[in-house]
Amino acid sequence: MRVLVAGSAGFIGCHLSKRFLDDGHQVVGVDNIVTGQKSNIEHLQGNEAFTFIRHDIVEPLTVDGRFDLICNLACPASPVDFGPLSIEIMDVCSRGTRALLDLARQNEAVYLHASTSEVYGDPKVHPQPESYWGHVNSIGPRSCYDEGKRFGEALTVAYRDRYALRTRMARIFNTYGPRMRANDGRALPVFINQALSGQPITVHGDGAQTRSFCFVSDLVDGLVRLSASEFADPVNLGNPHEISILDIAKEVIEIAASASEIVLVDRPADDPQVRRPDITRAAEILGWKPIVERRDGLAVTVEWFRSVAQPPPAVLDL
Ligand code: NAD
Ligand code: UDP
Repeated sequence: MRVLVAGSAGFIGCHLSKRFLDDGHQVVGVDNIVTGQKSNIEHLQGNEAFTFIRHDIVEPLTVDGRFDLICNLACPASPVDFGPLSIEIMDVCSRGTRALLDLARQNEAVYLHASTSEVYGDPKVHPQPESYWGHVNSIGPRSCYDEGKRFGEALTVAYRDRYALRTRMARIFNTYGPRMRANDGRALPVFINQALSGQPITVHGDGAQTRSFCFVSDLVDGLVRLSASEFADPVNLGNPHEISILDIAKEVIEIAASASEIVLVDRPADDPQVRRPDITRAAEILGWKPIVERRDGLAVTVEWFRSVAQPPPAVLDL
């Protein structure tokens, strides 16, 4: 199979590309590196089945040869980027998604869309099944992403229904693991890097808000199963084990054997209070459920960040 992975230099995209290569497929990675890292694909570039194209998917893309599968993971995903990259996010979710849907049509390829639990907003139904329509502020600090992703789902469904395009749609919940950016801004890379450098752990608000964290290999397995399925409605992919942000901050400190203190700082507006996927559909349709325990995934992630941490600058004895 020949696969295009948009967002291949990003956190999930590089793991998905690696998985397809390991499974014997050819991968063309596309990324403009706005939030990705070249280092995420360096280890793939020796593989002759991998090609990388630096490109903004909002602009027309011409690639030789046919694709069997087009995976669209291209989109900044950290709340700290929602302000500075608001318009770029709405562009990639709308024009970028449309460009890849058109490419999928031309190739008669399957189109896999990376949507998000953010389509549920600050949910009033808990846990969140795919049937829940969500509770989203259309003009708040997260709206570029939430509404962009909701538009991306609507566009994907429109192409499915009008052109009989074979579309697959994953609603991805909080995912973590090696190859996140150290300065990504999302809770786990922030907490781990603070713990490893002995800095205070910055918990927003009282830390009672919850999330449910999925290790990246589990998520990638769900994406691969979904892309191979015939199921065209959205599927939640995430780990249903819910934890408060205060408790996961404590867990990171313990696993990193850190002396960091926890400090409570201002909480951003519209930060969802709870989040946990109902994964009944993924279990029934894909036979999928996460298998990596949080403590095991955190230990691997902590060790990875420790291994890539820059050594402190040398003190010059002048
Ligand atoms: P990431 O920022 O690490 O990866 C996104 C990649 O897309 C980056 O490499 C970035 O440079 C690239 N990109 C952005 N705009 C682009 C454009 N216009 N053209 C080409 N490339 C572009 O984020 P991630 O966590 O790997 O997220 C991947 C996808 O999964 C995103 O669509 C995100 O919305 C979705 N998602 C992720 C999570 C999570 O917890 N990681 C949760 C829900 C949804
Ligand atoms: N968070 C925090 N400190 C940080 C970064 C995030 O307490 O330095 C909180 C954030 O307010 C949210 C949760 O951790 O309640 C998860 O945030 P993240 O940015 O990882 O993703 P989100 O699920 O909000 O998209």
